[in-house]
This record gives sequence, structure tokens and C-alpha cells, in this order.
Amino acid sequence: MTRTASTPQRTVLITGASGGIGAACARACARDGWAVAVHYRSQAQAAFDLVAQLKAGGATAEAFAAEVTDEAAVAALFTAVDRALPPLGGLVNNAGVVDVGARVDEMSAERVRRMFDINVVAPFICSRHALRRLSSRHGGAGGAIVNVGSAASRLGSPGQYVDYAASKGAIDTFTLGLAREVAAEGVRVNAVRPGIIDTSIHASGGQPDRVQRLGPTVPMGRAGHAGEVAEAVAWLLGPGAAYTTGALLDVSGGR
Ligand code: NAP
Repeated sequence: MTRTASTPQRTVLITGASGGIGAACARACARDGWAVAVHYRSQAQAAFDLVAQLKAGGATAEAFAAEVTDEAAVAALFTAVDRALPPLGGLVNNAGVVDVGARVDEMSAERVRRMFDINVVAPFICSRHALRRLSSRHGGAGGAIVNVGSAASRLGSPGQYVDYAASKGAIDTFTLGLAREVAAEGVRVNAVRPGIIDTSIHASGGQPDRVQRLGPTVPMGRAGHAGEVAEAVAWLLGPGAAYTTGALLDVSGGR
């Protein structure tokens, strides 16, 4: 948001910010003057270390734990952020998972439900809580939501994880619909769609070598860095994107 001395500080809540793209977003947002709510699930130490680094750099930041598929835990998360930090001004729906490679004819309903619970239902619920604080319909001062989708929504990820790709397709449509729903209420809603980014998510999907293997096949000849996605997220949150809503911004090296 690139705060000036006369602009009151506001908070951006970033889900899944203990590592990878979320942590990079936290750094970029802190640099831009946001107070940062660093959400994590299991990596408490990484989240606390990140908050300590941000504070050492002069930023306002706190860490908050929550399981994003637990509706009560998400409500408690937003309440805790309200109490600890300046008023909410932004939300980055970043927490997400892949699963091990599988064809659709091998996928259990349980696997697909978990994927959609974390990657789709949770962003809906987090956005609901954010909108009740941001939207002028609820007395809010406006703000911005950025969803972290994926280039997989365009590519479909056949033979790997069509369930993941479909969950990110839902995020594209969620972004388009919500952006138009709240456009006149002071809230902008956009998405970034990263391509192959060097984070630990690939190892969690059983492909620790995915970045090395597929990076050279990207038109730009390499995988991306978390910080390169974070720059797009920070721009979409900030005043430079004041007339941008409903955009799906590919950050994928041309893939
Ligand atoms: P990552 O390092 O594995 O980060 C994922 C984050 O999501 C972690 O901080 C994790 O928290 C959190 N999370 C997962 N399940 C959760 C749950 N049930 N409740 C709460 N938090 C949960 O991976 P990343 O690559 O940075 O991914 C961030 C986003 O980018 C995801 O939405 C992903 O789909 C998207 N993306 C990544 C790539 C890529 O190539 N890396 C490409 C396209 C899109 P804990 O670790 O604390 O448990």
C-alpha cells in the first residue's frame, strides 16, 4: 500500500505464510507498509522466525495459527487479528495443497474433498470474514483480496493432479464472481496464477525434483521464485492496482 505518514496503517492477513510464496508475500507487504498477520498451520517456528525478522526490519507483524478447513478456527483467527493488529485492509488466500500424482480413475472421494476443502472452501470462508470487515456494505473502509490460484487451472495437470487443477479453476471463477459482486463496495478481488515456483509444495506432492525437471521446459527456461509471485501479489494489494479487479494475473514465465 506504500504508506505515507498521514495514512493509518492497515493489516493484511496472509494464509499459509510460514514458508514458500506466503512468506515471500509477508516480506513484500511489510516492505510496502502493511502490518502483517502471518497465518500458519503446522510450521510454528518458521512463522515466529519470520515475524521476528519482519519486526527487526521495523514492520508490525504477528503470527496466528489456524486450520483453514475448520470454520470456527477461521472465525477465531480473524478475531485474534482484530485484537492484535491495526484494522484489516487486505487478505491473501494463499494456503493450499497438492497431493501425490494420480489419475482421476484412481482418486478417492476423500482425496478430492480434502483438496476442495483446503483450496476452495477455505478461501470462501476467509473471504467472508474479510468482507465483513472491508466492504462498505458492512461499514468497512474497503480493501483488497488476492487469491493465489495456479496456471494449473489452464493446463489441467493431466496424469498428475486434475483435482488440484480443478480446485484452482474454481478459484479463477470465485475471483471473477466475487470481484463483480463487491466492486461497488470498495473491495477489489484479484488472483495471481503462479506457474512452477521453487517451494517445498512439490516435495509434499511426492515430486521433490519437479522444479529441476520442469523448469527448463518453461518458455523463460527456468522455474520462478516465491519472491517473483509476491511482487505481483503486493502490487494487486496496493494503490497501483486501484482500478484492477477481477484480474487473473499469470506469473508463470510464459507457461
Ligand atoms: P507451501 O510452501 O507448501 O505453502 C503452503 C502453505 O499452506 C503452508 O504454509 C501451509 O501451512 C498452508 N496450509 C496447507 N494446508 C493448510 C491447512 N489445511 N490449513 C492451514 N494452512 C494450510 O507451498 P507454496 O508453493 O508456497 O504454495 C502457496 C500457494 O501457491 C498454494 O495455494 C499453491 O497451490 C499455490 N501455487 C504454488 C505453485 C508452486 O509451484 N509452488 C504453483 C502454483 C500455485 P503449514 O506449512 O504451516 O502447515
